[in-house]
This record gives sequence, C-alpha cells and structure tokens, in this order.
Amino acid sequence: MENKGYILGGLSFLLIIPSILLLMVLVDMVNMDESVDTIIKSDNSFYISGDVERNIPIITRQVLKETVDNVISNGNSIPNSRILIKNAVEHRMNDLCANYQNNSGVNIRCVINSVDSASDPFEVEVNSTILVMKGNITYNHIVNQNISILGTDHRNKFSINSNDSNEISDPLPFIKCKKIGGMSIKNARISYGSSLKKYLEGVNGSEIYENASSPYHIKRCPYDPYKSHGNSTKLTTLKNCIDNGYYHESNDGACLLCRLEGRATCNHYGFETFIVPSNEGNQKFIRATCSIDHVIFGNKNFNDSYPGDSVQYYFNNNTAYELFLDNGHRAKYGVPDIK
Ligand SMILES: [Zn+2]
Ligand SMILES: [Zn+2]
Repeated sequence: MENKGYILGGLSFLLIIPSILLLMVLVDMVNMDESVDTIIKSDNSFYISGDVERNIPIITRQVLKETVDNVISNGNSIPNSRILIKNAVEHRMNDLCANYQNNSGVNIRCVINSVDSASDPFEVEVNSTILVMKGNITYNHIVNQNISILGTDHRNKFSINSNDSNEISDPLPFIKCKKIGGMSIKNARISYGSSLKKYLEGVNGSEIYENASSPYHIKRCPYDPYKSHGNSTKLTTLKNCIDNGYYHESNDGACLLCRLEGRATCNHYGFETFIVPSNEGNQKFIRATCSIDHVIFGNKNFNDSYPGDSVQYYFNNNTAYELFLDNGHRAKYGVPDIK
C-alpha cells in the first residue's frame, strides 16, 4: 500500500510538470501580447506608413488594368497616360489614407510624384512621398517602386495559364483596329477578322492579314536569348512562342504607357509581339508587311511599315503556317535567312 501511494504521488508530480510548463507559456504569451501592443501604441504611424507603401503597387496595378480595359472597350487612346494614371492612383491612395486616419487617428498622406516607364519594359515605375504628420512634426518618406505589368501567373517562367483575370492586356490593337470592326477575342488571342487587312489597305500584301491574330495578354517570352527561337530546323521554339502569345523586349516597340496613348513606337525601352496571318493564306505570298506589331502599327501613313520574307514555322495537313520577318528581326530571333 505504501508503495502504491508513493507511485501515485510520483505520477501526479509528473503530470504537474507539463501543466506548469503550459502555464509558463501562457503567461509569456500574455506578456508578449502586451509588449507588441505597447510598441504599436507607441508608434502606430510607422506601421500605417508601411501599410500605405504596400498598397501602392496593388492600387497601381488595379488602375493600370482598369485603364487598359477601358481603352480596349471603347477603342479610344488616352492623351497623357502617365498623368491620368498618376492622378487615379493618388485619388485612391487619398481614400485609403482617409480610412487609416479615421480608424487610427494618424494623420497620413500619400503623394504620387510620378508614374513612368521603367528600365524593364514589363514594369512601371511609381515614385511617391508618404507623409506622416504628428503635431508640428512631419515625417517624409520617399518611395520608388517598380511594379510588374505581368499577370501573377507569368512571373513563373513557362507558365501557360492565360485565363487569369489578373492579367493586363495590350491596348494598342484595339486603338488601331476596334473602330474598323471585326475584332474578337478567342482563346486568349485577338482575332482581327477583316479589320487589320482594312487597316493596312494600300500596302502590298495586306490581304495576308485577313483573319490574322496576336496575343491578348502581355506575357514575357521565356525563350532567352531570343536567338534560340530559330534554334531547331523545324522552328519549334518559334512555334511555341507564337502559340503561347509571348512578348519580347524591344528598343523599337512601344512601352505599355505609350501604347495606351496609341503609339506603336516610342523612345522608352518597350516590347513587341508577332501578329500572325491566318493559315488560310496557303503561302500566297513570299513577301508581305513584316509581322511584328510595331511595324504593322508603325504609323498612319505606313511610312514606318516595311516588308519581310516568309518564314514557315509549322506545316500540318497541307497547311503552311507562316509569318513575315525582315532581316533585322530574323537576326534578333535567330531565324535563318531564306535560302
Ligand atoms: Zn518568344
Ligand atoms: Zn514609351
């Protein structure tokens, strides 16, 4: 009996140890909560300033996407995209800051100084000043952010999911062709119907662009270096690039902000994509307007458009899939010259 009692006593002692440990942890947690709380209370404005900063890219992307979607739906270019987007972002940041002020009492403002093209054409650069005012003291914080214009899925190389509503589309084809009629969107591609042929009226070989198509969403081409497009004799990389609707960095092609203004070329580092004739052509042409978007949409009088030679990038069921590239673009994408 004595022995049993001793064993029970030992057991309960063992049970008490975890309870003590648990209690210690709980007490610690309460203490920790209190200490975090005091930090927040002592410098709430620091956290709110960080929150405001983190919201600038989110709001800029929303504004960019809405601006692009608006241009796509009405086909009208906008006169000064940088100012318009800057003002729209600032307007929304004002609302956000007003909310923070109501909830926390911290007097905070966010001035968007500029929205401009970035050195990476798939980004937009936003410069802002965040001001926190406490009594007579104003704390200024200048922020420079490079914000991606790519859909979240396409930050991953080789992603092929193209139906992400988060993606930003190319507004330029709609500014150039929407009002001519016949455009539609099929399988994440712009199908031009007869609009592009009409747009190119008077240019040699414009007929080949009946029912042409180009990518709807802006996606960065992962086939880098670009010369690898022409690597295999069957041009499979070029075909994959066209099938996935990729865009390429380009000195000549316009950046997104200039595309919104209806320009195909600009002084910034921009991007370009292929506008491919439909395969109904069956090699009727060996030479036609170059199939690079900034060449086709170069300018209204076609002074900037120039021809290219046929590149057959796929052949199936007696149907030749081709596009037209000038020597410069053949060299850029590593496509061999015509034999
Ligand atoms: Zn490519
Ligand atoms: Zn530009």
